[in-house]
Amino acid sequence: MTIKETTMLPEFEYDIQGNFIKDAPLGSKSWFGCGGNADILFEPASLDDLSLFLREYPEQEPLTILGGMANCIIRDGGIRGIVIQLGKQFAEIEVEGNRILAGAGALNGSVASAAAKAGIGGLEFLSGIPGTVGGALSMNAGAYGSEVSDILIAALAMTREGRTMPYGPSDLQMGYRTCIPPEGTVFTGAVFEGKEEATETVRERLKTIKEQRRATQPITEKTGGSTFANPKPEELEKANLPEGTRAWQLVERVGGRGLSIGGAQMSEKHCNFMLNTGAAAASDLENLGDELIRRVREECGLELHWEIKRLGDSL
Ligand SMILES: Cc1cc2nc3c(=O)[nH]c(=O)nc-3n(C[C@H](O)[C@H](O)[C@H](O)COP(=O)(O)OP(=O)(O)OC[C@H]3O[C@@H](n4cnc5c(N)ncnc54)[C@H](O)[C@@H]3O)c2cc1C
Repeated sequence: MTIKETTMLPEFEYDIQGNFIKDAPLGSKSWFGCGGNADILFEPASLDDLSLFLREYPEQEPLTILGGMANCIIRDGGIRGIVIQLGKQFAEIEVEGNRILAGAGALNGSVASAAAKAGIGGLEFLSGIPGTVGGALSMNAGAYGSEVSDILIAALAMTREGRTMPYGPSDLQMGYRTCIPPEGTVFTGAVFEGKEEATETVRERLKTIKEQRRATQPITEKTGGSTFANPKPEELEKANLPEGTRAWQLVERVGGRGLSIGGAQMSEKHCNFMLNTGAAAASDLENLGDELIRRVREECGLELHWEIKRLGDSL
């Protein structure tokens, strides 16, 4: 296979069944609803298809993996090279005892519902986290005191050589919103484990989570979840800030609640959530985040870190 220009479709030795879409709209389909296109979007038809593709795609060529785009800003200039997105062929969910095997394309909410239906407790926190299992693994997503690494038996991942490998949480160095798989790894699925519980009890908790989300987060807006990660204890100590200070409190302290740049605004409802109020460019969102990082650095002596991934090129 050769790729002469990144905007050209690659030529494959093998017959790849999945879809290749040139100049594919991406940002507009992200949760933020703004940003550029992918040079080429690849939607593999199956695990074998993905494996053939990865084996042939030159290592030096740019490759990006995306899930539900609930945690990313796609910059206005779009993403070079190939973007892989796993669709419904990767969204199967199977139950075995107290374990759930879910494809990386399955929605977190569907996994939580399947667990509840099967009488498995402990996976409810996933219900309030938009996006896919692949994204949840990659972010070690979490809420209400639980995170993916707590329920993870094994993440199934395909290497850049096209081989599927199981990884446990310690292999992936999973920590607070971090996961460090080998470079270029595509998560294809996960085995989660919960504990036996009555379906009704689990469903009650799902209901409570839904109500809490509605009350505290701007879930019906164009948003991306928490903009900044909560500071680590050592960062707070270094900046002489009280233990347990959350990112939203620092945003609030520097006048961030409701602050806007262009069409981007920090939510009034939850000031660590950033919104596209209608016509934001991805650069508005990024500039607003960078402005808050600057203010917190100058006024509080602490460096906030983006939790949201910013991908692609600026215009
Ligand atoms: C309203 C709202 C509320 C939210 N609340 C929470 C919350 O409570 N807790 C929380 O943790 N997050 C929260 N988020 C953020 C987001 O839902 C999570 O980070 C989620 O896990 C992102 O999944 P995704 O499929 O959308 O990933 P994407 O945004 O598409 O990608 C995120 C990262 O994962 C990587 N990735 C995606 N799929 C794969 C794959 N198959 N293989 C390898 N890498 C992959 C991408 O390269 C990227 O680096 C919220 C977001 C919104 C919009």
